[in-house]
Amino acid sequence: MIDSAAVRAATPGLTSDLIFLDSAGSSLPPAVVTDTVIAHLRREAEIGGYRAANERLDDLADVKSAVATLIGATPATIALSDSASRSWADFFYSVPLREGDRILLSEADYATNAIAALQRARATGAVVEHIPSDGTGALDLGALERMLDERVRLVSLQHAPTNGGLVNPIAEATALARAVGALVLLDACQSIGQLPLDVAALGVDALSATGRKWLRGPRGTGFLYVRDELARTMEPERLDLHGATWTGPDTYALAPDASRFEFWECDVAARLGLGAAVRYLLALGPDQVYAAVAERAAYLRTALSALPGVTVRDLGTRHSGIVSFTVDGVDPIAVRDGLAERNMTVTVSHASSTLLDMTSRALPSVVRASPHYFVDFDELDRFAAAVAGL
Ligand SMILES: *Cc1c(COP(=O)(O)O)cnc(C)c1O
Repeated sequence: MIDSAAVRAATPGLTSDLIFLDSAGSSLPPAVVTDTVIAHLRREAEIGGYRAANERLDDLADVKSAVATLIGATPATIALSDSASRSWADFFYSVPLREGDRILLSEADYATNAIAALQRARATGAVVEHIPSDGTGALDLGALERMLDERVRLVSLQHAPTNGGLVNPIAEATALARAVGALVLLDACQSIGQLPLDVAALGVDALSATGRKWLRGPRGTGFLYVRDELARTMEPERLDLHGATWTGPDTYALAPDASRFEFWECDVAARLGLGAAVRYLLALGPDQVYAAVAERAAYLRTALSALPGVTVRDLGTRHSGIVSFTVDGVDPIAVRDGLAERNMTVTVSHASSTLLDMTSRALPSVVRASPHYFVDFDELDRFAAAVAGL
């Protein structure tokens, strides 16, 4: 069991009466994360960024070790970056595409991914197609199987979409895609830190994730996982003197691992903060965290479902820590703002972020509540009462 009083005391944002339900947007970091970032910024100001970084080489290497441990990978398969979108693009734009190649996206795919796919389709003559959802709203495995052939170069999957509590059957989808030789790129932005995530079990070729959401890390952090063999053989679309070494007038050599997908310059303080966040999670026990999130989300879903005029909008049969809902006759933005006046933080997810799914359900936007393990059940009761009062 997680010691709720201890984790709350270790979170400066929870010392007020704030009810925080936005870990799917940008969570509240534990003090150790903020302290790590600030201490490093101060050290940079004292002795300069290069010496300050040199003092922390072991800790910097440990950031990859911590991330790798969390997802069942090795440090050599991790490339750190400044966001999930950057990491997703770093891999996606490096996949060679030719005219007639097919790119499959899911209906719940994030706008960033869809835009990148459309851009590359325009540039290369590849085609973008969408995998339909099944009757529950989850990725339709039967439809995926029928769509797959050897012209499919890449399948983009959403572990947990941004706009609701759906969890997709990734391992099953990956097995189908790999059988025809397609690459699988998993957007794990909304699953990292709240759902079990094991790259070997999922079988994906690459995965992107962010630091600031369920990991409770700093903004401006993210990472890419690239399967071992690809990390050693794939040529990134862009390189700098960290991803490769200039070996002669006409030659360069790629870094031997996933760091070929990184650029040299980075926010060292933020990166150390990401390491602190992941170490904090590992120390708490990821399985305990995942169980605590699931319990809170299920509790909130039940509480909101019982309210007249409130509709829970989560799809699928397996659910994540995201609880999305609408209130009859009240615009989601007014719901968010009304709750903010009561010092309760939720966000609104707009159709533009997950266009196909939201359009097919005729939803312009939904309210998104995302309780992390540090939220108490009585806070969820107070939250539901506040929604009822809107
Ligand atoms: C937030 C989010 C992203 C983008 O993450 P950034 O770190 O902002 O780039 C990608 N996919 C999903 C599903 C998200 O929720």
